[in-house]
Amino acid sequence: MKCPKCGAILSTLPVGDISVDKCQSCDGIWLEHGELEKLRETGLQGIEKQLEQEFGNPPAPMHSLDGYLRCPQCVDKGLRTNYVSYMQPVKMDHCVACFGMWLDKHELDKLLEDKKQLDAVQVDRGFKAMLAGLAKRMAR
Ligand SMILES: [Zn+2]
Ligand SMILES: [Zn+2]
Repeated sequence: MKCPKCGAILSTLPVGDISVDKCQSCDGIWLEHGELEKLRETGLQGIEKQLEQEFGNPPAPMHSLDGYLRCPQCVDKGLRTNYVSYMQPVKMDHCVACFGMWLDKHELDKLLEDKKQLDAVQVDRGFKAMLAGLAKRMAR
C-alpha cells in the first residue's frame, strides 16, 4: 500500500498481535477498521516512539500528493477528515468505504493517551458514585 500523504510504500510493522502500516517517510500510520480499538485495549502507550526505536526512522523525501488524501486500500476513494477522541479532539482521516483510518505523526499516541485519561476519569467517577451510595446508606 502507498502512503496517502506522500506516496511512499507503507511498511507493515508489528505492535503486539496487531500489525499496523506505517509510512517511514512522513511517519503517518494507517489503521484498518477496528485496529484502533484493539490498540487501545492493549493499553500500550507511546507506540509511535517504540516503532521508531525498533525500526528506525529513515529520512525520506516528502512530496505531497495533489489535493486530498486517498485511501491506500481502496485507492480511488478519498479520505474524509474527522475528529475522534474521548477527551480531546484528535484529527484523523478515514475511508468511508473500508473504515480504515490515517493518522499523521503523533496522532496515534495522542489517541492512546486519550484513552488512558478516559479510563482514569471513569475510575474516578465510579469511586465517587460508590462514595455517594455509602453516604446515602449512612444517612438513613
Ligand atoms: Zn508518508
Ligand atoms: Zn478504503
